[in-house]
Amino acid sequence: MTVLRLILADQLSESITSLQGINKKRDTIMLCEVMEEASCVPHHPKKIAFLFSAMRHFAAELESSGLRVRYVKLNDSKNTGSFTGELKRAVQELKPSNVVVTEPGEYRLLEMMKAWQKTFDIPVEILPDKRFLATHAEFAAWVKDKKQLRMEFFYREMRRKYGLLIEPGDKPTGGEWNYDKENRKPPKSGMTVPLRMSHQKSIITNEVLTLVKERFSHHFGTLEPFQYAVTRKQALMELEHFATHLLPNFGDYQDAMVAGEPYLYHSLISSYLNAGLLLPLEICQQAEVAYRTGKAPLNAVEGFIRQVLGWREYIRGIYWHLMPEYGERNSLDATRPLPEFYWGAPTHMFCMAESVRHTRDHAYSHHIQRLMVTGNFALLTGLDVKAVQTWYLAVYSDAYEWVEMPNTLGMALFGDGGVVASKPYAASGKYIHRMSNYCEKCKYDPDEMTGEKACPFNALYWDFLVRNEDKFRGNQRMPYVFSTWDKFTPEKKRAIRTQAALSLQKMAEGTL
Ligand SMILES: Cc1cc2nc3c(=O)[nH]c(=O)nc-3n(C[C@H](O)[C@H](O)[C@H](O)COP(=O)(O)OP(=O)(O)OC[C@H]3O[C@@H](n4cnc5c(N)ncnc54)[C@H](O)[C@@H]3O)c2cc1C
Ligand code: SF4
Repeated sequence: MTVLRLILADQLSESITSLQGINKKRDTIMLCEVMEEASCVPHHPKKIAFLFSAMRHFAAELESSGLRVRYVKLNDSKNTGSFTGELKRAVQELKPSNVVVTEPGEYRLLEMMKAWQKTFDIPVEILPDKRFLATHAEFAAWVKDKKQLRMEFFYREMRRKYGLLIEPGDKPTGGEWNYDKENRKPPKSGMTVPLRMSHQKSIITNEVLTLVKERFSHHFGTLEPFQYAVTRKQALMELEHFATHLLPNFGDYQDAMVAGEPYLYHSLISSYLNAGLLLPLEICQQAEVAYRTGKAPLNAVEGFIRQVLGWREYIRGIYWHLMPEYGERNSLDATRPLPEFYWGAPTHMFCMAESVRHTRDHAYSHHIQRLMVTGNFALLTGLDVKAVQTWYLAVYSDAYEWVEMPNTLGMALFGDGGVVASKPYAASGKYIHRMSNYCEKCKYDPDEMTGEKACPFNALYWDFLVRNEDKFRGNQRMPYVFSTWDKFTPEKKRAIRTQAALSLQKMAEGTL
């Protein structure tokens, strides 16, 4: 009897546990494009096209190596539109002895899989996802007895575990664990960024683009030009391109933002990594080789490895450790509706318009745009945490709930009550002014607090802090913030709060 091995859209790795021990002659691998998942939030058309094309290429590679694949396309006439429906159909037609699947990246899907055994009266084996570098048990052991779950300490353990940038005696290379003090430079005027790769579209990709155009053009986002890598080979080329041409400057300009430059020195690997075309350890090892061979400096390489080995694994650990209760948190009671400019309606705030433009055109914006522009604005204005999470989950090609939720709810919105961030990532227009050239192109002035030309972020920053004073005044990491506020005259305080109220009103009216 056949064993039915189900592979999800973000499990496109030959080393995935659900393929381990496969019997070429007997077993069937199943991949399906289902409407339920493609439309559970209005996913960006580029994200859907990337995943469908990568799935179809992966299935073709499996078939060419002699494996039996059952591939259900979105427009197949018998497609039931859901995983459960497709599994039912496959179980009826193939009569497998059991179903094997690797754990998914979303709590909702895991619950659904757990129910399958009962629904279909067939053994369903849910295997761990060994592509990640920390197991659930390791993360739980790290969490135990800790008052605060700070990424930095988790990261050091991971460095030791994998021997990445580690010298004899378990010492960090260069003597420090973290070189961020050398990173985070503002952009240089006239800086030129190396060109990015663009991959030729295959017949498969062209077919997918036609399908996505037909079915999903009402979703926010531009489908073409489409230049994503869709195979492991192409994703490896992206990684090589990054390591050779961009990694050397990655650390320096990690937090910089430049108008018209969506990518700067970022790696653009998250979509490939999260879908399984690249693996985290090979990425970190390639970065370390760049340092050891003198091709990239330590501050860049350490900073990059920290993102993949530290932040990514930590974020996943938080998600699985705290779900499902985590997803219901809203510690700052943020409930304001998401303004239309998140979906492309006009706004005079250049930083917001530019970040949303990059998102619309590329299904990508880099970390600082996500955190300090769109995220910061949502935090300061108290936008509804569920609506903001839906937006982040929908618009980025690398977004899956396990990684999107702790980043959005925890890091950007402080909605988890301070698990991921020890203080809110709240900033006035001064931060954006320092780290970008956006303000030069804006109708608003980052140096003005009140009046027609005042940058909305400025008054909104203070308004946010005062609104949430009971939660933040005692925060050890914000010692000077409230003492500055306390020194303002009553008139100044009133003027700031009136300005913030005006911005919130304009936001609701669509005129901000
Ligand atoms: C509000 C918000 C939402 C986010 N949503 C997602 C998401 O849905 N999916 C996602 O992969 N990342 C998410 N991130 C993290 C980060 O912004 C993206 O991983 C990064 O921008 C992807 O671009 P890149 O590949 O060029 O990354 P680089 O800047 O080149 O970084 C290298 C890699 O490090 C990893 N990484 C860096 N920071 C994080 C982080 N905080 N969490 C997890 N991995 C990290 C990614 O795999 C990334 O590819 C989010 C961040 C914020 C603030
Ligand atoms: S002035 Fe304010 S709104 Fe305009 S780009 Fe700068 S930070 Fe953004």
